[in-house]
Amino acid sequence: MTKIKINRDKEFILHIKKFTTAKLMKKTKEKDHYIKQIFKLNEAGEKVSVSALSKLFNVSKSSVSNMLKKLSLMELVDTSPYSSIKLTQKGRKFAKEVVAKHRLIESFLVEVMEFKPDQVHEIAEEIEHINSPIFFSKVRKMLKQDTIDPHGSNIPKTDF
Ligand SMILES: [Zn+2]
Repeated sequence: MTKIKINRDKEFILHIKKFTTAKLMKKTKEKDHYIKQIFKLNEAGEKVSVSALSKLFNVSKSSVSNMLKKLSLMELVDTSPYSSIKLTQKGRKFAKEVVAKHRLIESFLVEVMEFKPDQVHEIAEEIEHINSPIFFSKVRKMLKQDTIDPHGSNIPKTDF
């Protein structure tokens, strides 16, 4: 009886762990996507507003505002009233890292794993959220060139 109970408890703990990891991963992805989009819009010189982001992500303005509040507390975005939403210096560094991870993975998939360029975007969208500088540094070192991705975009320089 006791043994069964212990096993059940273990299962329960495993279940909770899995659930929490999945939830955290989802949050990380959401955060990364916001930062990446704001970075791209800023770079393109477009005005970034709550309504623009709400249209882009197809979510309500209040959920955009909630997310921006969190990102602002993390000092990643600057949301001064009446002006376009901008990334802080820390936010820009973070965005460049996510963009670099994405493009390094696309390059790796084509150069090393022999995927076709049109097959790699979706995979890179998943892998870019992994938090392991050493992993991406190794990927960078394995490439013949690490400046241009398979779609012709620049791969930002990073510390990893
Ligand atoms: Zn891509």
